[in-house]
Amino acid sequence: MKFSYPGIIERYWDYLPVSDKTPIISLNEGSTPLIKSVYLSVKYGCELYFKFEGLNPTGSFKDRGMTLAISKAKEAGAKAVMCASTGNTSASAAAYARRGRMRCIVVIPDGKIALGKLAQAMMHGAEVLAIAGNFDDALDVVKYITSNYEIVLVNSINPFRIEGQKTGAFEICDWLGDAPDFLFIPVGNAGNITSYWKGFKEYKEKNISEALPKMMGWQAEGSAPIVRGRVIENPETIATAIRIGNPARWKEAEAAAKDSGGKIDMVSDEKIIQAYKIRALNEGIFCEPASAASVAGLIKEADENPEMLKGKQIVCILTGHGLKDPDIAIANSPEIISVKKDYDQIKKALNL
Ligand SMILES: *Cc1c(COP(=O)(O)O)cnc(C)c1O
Repeated sequence: MKFSYPGIIERYWDYLPVSDKTPIISLNEGSTPLIKSVYLSVKYGCELYFKFEGLNPTGSFKDRGMTLAISKAKEAGAKAVMCASTGNTSASAAAYARRGRMRCIVVIPDGKIALGKLAQAMMHGAEVLAIAGNFDDALDVVKYITSNYEIVLVNSINPFRIEGQKTGAFEICDWLGDAPDFLFIPVGNAGNITSYWKGFKEYKEKNISEALPKMMGWQAEGSAPIVRGRVIENPETIATAIRIGNPARWKEAEAAAKDSGGKIDMVSDEKIIQAYKIRALNEGIFCEPASAASVAGLIKEADENPEMLKGKQIVCILTGHGLKDPDIAIANSPEIISVKKDYDQIKKALNL
């Protein structure tokens, strides 16, 4: 008897580099809902869905890649894994490593990661090193250690991460019956856009789907190396999950945009916060700021180019849960109203 949908390794076994020797280390990730938009779809006259990846077990899409990366590390006999992280990779690595009885070491940029994510990594017993520097510096450290010691790197330069994450594209095709016209997705290290494009192409090659979507990737203006065509030394954005100045999958992301007839573009932090609020207030979906980059990108395209999206089927990937970053949510919300248990005061406060 099955108690719930199995995780992505069991669901998509035939499409993944696994064998009977692979131990499945899973938290039943994937099978996240495609939620129909009730506000932006009406406003822009399109068929829009949000793929809510924040509903994965540790609250971000990273779990899709991590279940496979950790299972393959275990298969190879690894005792320890390591990653650099803006937060979600470490939360995911820590949880899966613990299930696989492996040591997990994470390197984070000091002071630059959302509180919820740090809490997860620590709660799952990861050894957390905070280094002075940015994500790219943290990744340098991890590359150095993992190439000199018997520790497996589980950042998205690990090919199993990409293989696992491509199942997001499979799920979209399985549920829509084909690929959508457009896929909007935030871009940080560019592993996810690479994964989705790979997934869509594989389904088409196997004749499971017919179409390919235009891949629309979104960086934050202060952290947009691909758009600007140069490494950004000190990337800055409120969307910490995409604060990356030198994406590991830069070339693959450019190829996905070009080969699909899409693009990689950027949005300001102001527009990201605006989209963050619109989605929470008008769609009822609470995602972290990085996830709002794909929605901000959609709004930008629809405003500049209304005909392009009209009547089209569109999927926006919402990469992480809003609870990951409570500080930003509270900073962007109205003040709490404090009252005594006095009905006159309460009625006044509520305009009743
Ligand atoms: C990791 C992450 C991203 C960026 O994904 P890449 O694969 O690095 O491009 C975006 N949003 C969230 C919430 C993430 O955790």
